[in-house]
Amino acid sequence: MSTVSEADVVSAVNKELFIGGKWAPAAGNATFDVHDPATGEVLCAVADASPQDGIAALEAATAAQADWAAHPPRERGEILRRAYEKLMERQDELGLLMTLEMGKPLAEAKGEIAYAAEFFRWFAEEAVRIDGGYAVAPNGSGRFLVTNQPVGPSLLITPWNFPMAMGTRKIGPAVAAGCTMVIKPAAQTPLSMLALAGILAEAGLPDGVLNVVTTTQAGGVMEPMIRDGRARKLSFTGSTGVGRKLLEQCAGTVMRTSMELGGNAPFLVFEDADLDAAVDGAMQAKMRNIGEACTAANRFYVHSSVADEFSRKLTERMEGLPIGRGTEDGVVVGPLIDTAAIDKVSELVADAAQRGATVLTGGGTVDGPGNFYQPTVLTGVPREARMTSEEIFGPVAPISTFETEDEAIAATNDTEYGLVGYVYTQNLTRALRVSERMETGMVGLNQGVVSNPAAPFGGVKQSGLGREGGTVGIDEFLETKYIAVGGL
Ligand code: NAP
Repeated sequence: MSTVSEADVVSAVNKELFIGGKWAPAAGNATFDVHDPATGEVLCAVADASPQDGIAALEAATAAQADWAAHPPRERGEILRRAYEKLMERQDELGLLMTLEMGKPLAEAKGEIAYAAEFFRWFAEEAVRIDGGYAVAPNGSGRFLVTNQPVGPSLLITPWNFPMAMGTRKIGPAVAAGCTMVIKPAAQTPLSMLALAGILAEAGLPDGVLNVVTTTQAGGVMEPMIRDGRARKLSFTGSTGVGRKLLEQCAGTVMRTSMELGGNAPFLVFEDADLDAAVDGAMQAKMRNIGEACTAANRFYVHSSVADEFSRKLTERMEGLPIGRGTEDGVVVGPLIDTAAIDKVSELVADAAQRGATVLTGGGTVDGPGNFYQPTVLTGVPREARMTSEEIFGPVAPISTFETEDEAIAATNDTEYGLVGYVYTQNLTRALRVSERMETGMVGLNQGVVSNPAAPFGGVKQSGLGREGGTVGIDEFLETKYIAVGGL
């Protein structure tokens, strides 16, 4: 149990809109309720922004852009660094707040606060490394000057599954690059972002640089901002379906986009893998965030000669996991986000079972209040089962077997998604060959977690456009300008 009170962490958050450095109610004082997914109880109400509130936030971001772009990079970095320190100082309270609104176990929520804070530390360092160039033109007459400038006011949209880290992964590079922004967190988890806005203001972020709009009308509020023409960038993390719709809207103003979309990660275990390490990696890749992660292993392909042993060991680990409210000591499996998530997972498991898969453990919901689903392992999952092509977003591990590397690669790449894939093998040449043949933006090679603020995160195919984090993360918020210099 945490020593910080649940009521205190919720009441400490300002529940209004944050526009131009001021907290203000939504038009007509509209609010909506935020729920605890472990109990279904209402935690509090927050401001429910209208489309006009969204435009007011965009106006504040636009008005602040020129001054902010002129701010010394070192100062921009130091604001991020102070915010990093403050996040870490308040890791316990912020972790509890996240568990209350999202459900993940407290240890994981605190881990996310540290992960989120690291994006600020990383981009604090990157703010002063925006480079340029000076070169002699090929014909010797004239010079090329190249500089990188902030892209301009940016619109940021984040999902509920990592309420803090998906925000700092965008805010960090935008602040470092000198962009102002309007951020819209998911309606299910607005509290972490509102708390973060308070921290950035305390850290010295000037008024209008960050504006936060919470709303139940995601499309109604965002579309007018996208079509307005003053925003120059949209950075979105969420489902591929919504991403496609936003890309269409952005075409109207030829707005630059970064898209971090859905995943359908394959997890390959070859006959020469260290099976215990593979099971450890499988537990991380599957169970991190209760399976509600874009990077979650969604399909396990295991060589037939080791499939029984791998399935048995994975089942033993999954069976023993404590389920419960994320605030309780020792809980590893918290609730799913809502009843729709439970219905989807239940449907996918029923579909696989009906097509011939065997349920080794789990396979059902947990009685009582809250949205709990049992950790589940399925074997003999056929290719036509829906869960091999759709994101499960829950604690369910479907296992299929393969005979040859080519067969494993064909199954791996048979998807519109391409975010991440995992490979377990001790054969070095196979490890590199399979990593290269996987149509994904990232590979976990003998490793079940790939996320790291210092590495470029992102997908190919319909998993997205652009990269977040790493040395390239800031480029998403910069425009390259070339100045042709004559007279030399
Ligand atoms: P989602 O339904 O696409 O929502 C994501 C965000 O978009 C939320 O803030 C949502 O607001 C907003 N939104 C929904 N419809 C919109 C519209 N028409 N216009 C503008 N904004 C709109 O996704 P989710 O269910 O929250 O998140 C899970 C998905 O995110 C999964 O597919 C997962 O793989 C993906 N994800 C990807 C990454 C990555 O880095 N690639 C990371 C995390 C999650 P409301 O929620 O308030 O409606």
